[in-house]
Amino acid sequence: MHSSSVETKLSNILEKALSEQSLSQKDVELVLSVRNMEDVFSVLDVARELRERHFGKEVFAYGFVYYDTMCRNDCLFCYYRRSNKKPPRYKKDFEEVIELSHLLKKSGVHLIDLTLGEDPAIHDKEKFEEIISLASTIKTDVDIPVMVSPGVVPEWVIKEFSEEGIDWYACYQETHNPVLFSKLRIKQDYDTRLNVKLKAKEYGMLIEDGMLLGVGESISDRAHSILEMKRIGVNQARSMCFVPQEGTPMEHVPPPSVLEQMLAIAATRLVHPDRLIPASLDVFGVNGLQPMLLSGANVVTSLVYPETGLAGVANATLDVEEGRRTLEGISHYIHELGLKIATRKSYDRWMKKERE
Ligand code: SF4
Repeated sequence: MHSSSVETKLSNILEKALSEQSLSQKDVELVLSVRNMEDVFSVLDVARELRERHFGKEVFAYGFVYYDTMCRNDCLFCYYRRSNKKPPRYKKDFEEVIELSHLLKKSGVHLIDLTLGEDPAIHDKEKFEEIISLASTIKTDVDIPVMVSPGVVPEWVIKEFSEEGIDWYACYQETHNPVLFSKLRIKQDYDTRLNVKLKAKEYGMLIEDGMLLGVGESISDRAHSILEMKRIGVNQARSMCFVPQEGTPMEHVPPPSVLEQMLAIAATRLVHPDRLIPASLDVFGVNGLQPMLLSGANVVTSLVYPETGLAGVANATLDVEEGRRTLEGISHYIHELGLKIATRKSYDRWMKKERE
């Protein structure tokens, strides 16, 4: 195709995005494929304009607590897959997590993301009471919004999370191509993982889904993921680069470029103008934050309290012990872009509006 015809098509798509009309699969594919820097800047400009229209200059921030790193599954891309001997395996105690949540709240985060692998001692035995009670204690005693990321759980657990007032349920498909899903998430069921999110939504929880870039998907798969997250009505849509993990079968697979990450975030913003889009510190560390914010992201995730021995998901240690993955450590990166960290009130207001 002639380049001026691509430019015309792109500017039509960007016009459509600015007037918040739905984009087609082909539209999103074209946005994800641009490589000419002038076109890239046009895409990023529109993504930022849409973010500003809905969120002003404010950025939200999530504290991350990796509660339990044991998992019964063997996802090809994951450091914490069952068969990997390398990662730190632990389950934190209840009191320690509460204390840590207090510290994270004090540091200024708006939400605690309580994450665990599918620990067989919990999932196989259906012993979810502890995690329900932990999430509920953080919500009420620490008095902060809570996101749970416990993997696939039975409906009764979702119901209890919802009754305890837990705000968010996060569960990432990572790809919305069922064939690729079955290769990556060995012996797991695509629909089961998707349906548990829909259940959480039915029970009134906010939901997050996500795609990983660089795990064997095509541009068309990426576009499909972004639109599929729109179709199911996610409140937070994550597009994140895969990080090759030592000790896994994908250890030597080259990760995607920062440009691909930026375009994926920007395309997600064009399709989800008023939803939350995370910039995870877990991929490129604090150095990757500004490119993601420049692409239209509006939530900094994976803030980890230093000196607590907690791991990250994709990057177990990157920038953690230096204390750079704290709100204080990242605030100047946010201010440099003319953005600011939102107040807790503002986050609560957004959640309330989103629920309505
Ligand atoms: S991605 Fe989640 S379910 Fe899969 S191995 Fe890792 S922790 Fe377990």
